[in-house]
Formats: sequence, C-alpha cells, structure tokens
Amino acid sequence: MTLNNTAPGASRPNGFAALALSPATLSNLQQLGYADMTPIQAASLPIALAGQDLIAQAQTGSGKTAAFALALLAKLNPRWFAVQAMVLCPTRELADQVTVEIRRLARAEENIKVVTLCGGIALRGQRASLENGAHVVVGTPGRIMDHLERGYLTLEGLNTLVLDEADRMLDMGFFDDIAKVAKQCPANRQTLLFSATYPEGIEKLAKQFMRDPQRVEVAAPKSESLIEQRFYEVTRTTRLQTVGELLRHFRPVSTLAFCNTKQQCKELVTLLQADGFQALALYGELEQRERDQVLAQFANRSCSVLVATDVASRGLDINQLEAVINVDITPDPEVHVHRIGRTGRAGASGLALSLAAMNDMGAVGKIEQYQNQASVWHKLDELTPTGKGALLPPMVTLQILGGRKEKIRPGDVLGALTNDEGGPAYTREQIGKIQVTEFCTFVAVSRDVAKAACAKLNAGRVKGKSVRARILTVTDSV
Ligand code: AMP
Repeated sequence: MTLNNTAPGASRPNGFAALALSPATLSNLQQLGYADMTPIQAASLPIALAGQDLIAQAQTGSGKTAAFALALLAKLNPRWFAVQAMVLCPTRELADQVTVEIRRLARAEENIKVVTLCGGIALRGQRASLENGAHVVVGTPGRIMDHLERGYLTLEGLNTLVLDEADRMLDMGFFDDIAKVAKQCPANRQTLLFSATYPEGIEKLAKQFMRDPQRVEVAAPKSESLIEQRFYEVTRTTRLQTVGELLRHFRPVSTLAFCNTKQQCKELVTLLQADGFQALALYGELEQRERDQVLAQFANRSCSVLVATDVASRGLDINQLEAVINVDITPDPEVHVHRIGRTGRAGASGLALSLAAMNDMGAVGKIEQYQNQASVWHKLDELTPTGKGALLPPMVTLQILGGRKEKIRPGDVLGALTNDEGGPAYTREQIGKIQVTEFCTFVAVSRDVAKAACAKLNAGRVKGKSVRARILTVTDSV
C-alpha cells in the first residue's frame, strides 16, 4: 500500500488534509479556496471530529461555521432520512448564513438536505420541507420549539447539536428554549457550543447539557493597542466629582466605573444621579432580582454608567463598552489590565481613564511595570463639557410584569411592538435587547418612542394576553 501524498493540501502544515475528512470533502475545500484552516478550525476540528463536546470561543468571521459544519457533516449518513444535526442560532440572518455555508461544504457529498426553521415565515412550508426529509436543521430556538411542540420535528436520530453564538442567544432570553430543545435530543449526542464571549449562562448551559466539554480559545486579534489609557491626578476630595467631568467631556454611551469598595460605589452613584446621570451600582449583596434589573439596563444601553466593584463585575460581559473608569486604582496590576480589557473589544476603540491620588503612585508604578508601558498623564483642566445637553443613554427599558412563568418569549414582545394594532408599528431598529427573566421581561426601546411604546404594550396583547408594562427609571432600581 502506498501513502497518498497527493491529497489536496497534504504538504501544508495547517491544511485540512491531516483531518479525518473524506477525499471528496477535501477536494471540495480546495475548490472553495479553503487552503489552510483558520486558527479556530485548527483548534476545534480535531476535537469535534473525534466526537467530543466542545466549547469554542470564536467571533463571526473566524471561520467558525465551517469548524462545526465539517464536524457535523462528517458524521452524517445521507441515505438515512432523519434529522441528524441541528444548529441553533440567535437570528434569522445568522441561520440563513449558516445554511448557505453548510450547503456549500456539503455539496461534495450526496444529496444532503439542509432546512432552515426561523420565525417570520409560514410554518406550513417549513413543515413540508421537514416531511420531504431533512438531514440538517438550522434555526432559531423559538421556531424550532414550535415545530417540536407540534410534532413536525423529531430528534431521535440527532447526533450533533450546535449552539452558535450562544452568548447572543442568552442575551435574547433563549435559555429556556435552548434547554427544552436540548432535553429532546438523544443523551449520547455530541454538543458543540460557539460563543464570542462567556457570560454566566454559558457555564450553566455547559453543566446542564454538555459532557466533559473540551475548551478552545483562539487569541482574539487582541485589541490592547486600541485601548487608549489616560491617567489623571486627583485628590481625595476631587476624585468622585471628576468622574462626572470625564463623562461630560468624553460622552461615552456606556461606561463601567470601578471602585475598590462598596461604600465608594454607593457614594459615587448617589453623586452621579444627583448630577443628572443615568447611573446604577453593582456590588455584592444585591438580590438576584436587583442584579438582573441593573445588568439588563446597562447591557441594553439604557443606563450610561455602571459603578461596580471588581468582585461584583465578575462574569459581566458587555460587548459595547466605550469607556472604563478606574475611579480607584487597584493595587493589583493584573486586575487593572482585566478592568481595562473590558473596553475596546472586537476591534472597537476604547477609553480607559484612571484617577490616581498621590498615595496611589506606587500602584500606578506597578501597573507601568506590569504593562511595560509608561502612563500617559492628562490635566484635569482639559476636561470641558462637550456636546449638547445632559448625557442620556440612547435607549429606555420597559419592564413587562410577566416573564418565563407566563411563557413569554422575546418574539412575542417583538411581535406586540412591530404589529400595527393599537399604535404605531415600531421597526426592529427602534427595539433593542429583549430579555425575559423568570417573573418579568425587559425590553429596550429608543428613548424617543419609549412612552408611546409603553402605552402600546399596555393597550395591546402579548402572547394573546393583556400585560402591564412600565418605564423603568434608574431611580426605581436599587
Ligand atoms: P464565519 O466566521 O463562519 O462566518 O466565516 C467567515 C468566512 O470565511 C466565510 O465566508 C467562510 O466561507 C470563510 N472561510 C471559512 N473557513 C475558511 C478557510 N479555511 N479558508 C478560507 N476561507 C474560509
């Protein structure tokens, strides 16, 4: 027997040829121009093809779709007409993209049927596609649940479950739907989870629905250089008032302000609120309900400033954060780097502003050594108010008294706001994050339509029932 050294890409160290893929697939990859694996593919494909559960940190554009698509296709039996793989996605747009990529990668094999199941499209057509035999289903959790509940979709033959952009699905309140879907999959299936960030819910998903998952993390195109660090010298008496001056000068949409103690958090929030800022505090000892409320408002951009201690901010994962303010310098340089790394994510630029008094200079020195970078000092008198009027967040949170217990789903709320009954139909752009918690639902809407949207919710129906909604102001919280 001779070794086949002519397999496409055989001589490339990062080529696909080293993987357990069929010759037809390798040749298809070559035709597609996929010469080398992307870093996320190189890290995750050997694990996924070996049948192990996987948690992979990957952004859009990293080649993550092919990373899970090649794994699920490798296991597929085209001659068996049963749903053997399912990909859950947060949005219809992503589900469409994923479907296109899977079809592209599947064209090497026999007739593999990929069906997309998302809301906004009649169930009947989707049901017919399922009846014609689907090997792979790609869709959003809500619509997939609908098909399962009606018995149009069965999962006994499933051997791969993929959760794509799991963090976004959690953001959108899909935890329960994901859980219900996962429970209907055979226990011996393989589960692959892809996520750009790791909010708390990811661990919960892993614990409940994955078996000894392997983790891969590919160094994100690190953005430290995109974070602009500025230090300001303050005194004990000017420290807190300087925060407001920074906010009025830089006008960041979302700012995370770190204090070293809970007491300092409370004092700063009181001062900022009195000064007209939409600011909230996050510290230990908050009840879960209060914590949920605070986080929902900050994550959906209806609170400008979140004032937190390091401990309380653990697990907090906010994608768009224009600024971090170190109201107190931390004595631990590693903590400093962790704090400022929360801004400037995913290629966006970020601002890290640190307030240091004389007795902080030792800590600042340690930070300089740790980062191997000299601090850039700016003068307080550079801080002049810019822009027009008060700094207000772009969104407002409406709280609906009803949540998971009432079986409310994000799509129900979206439907209630985008229909044209009982008030204007709002566009998707005027509606932000929708987060369903156990007893209530938070929905972000553009500031300019908040009152009318709240009235529309109160006048209309969500999931066929009338609901009570109110505008949440920061002073309602905590
Ligand atoms: P994704 O992150 O899955 O959205 O993929 C981003 C883009 O990269 C898609 O257009 C893929 O077709 C493409 N792509 C995926 N893997 C590779 C590869 N190994 N080489 C070249 N392009 C790729």
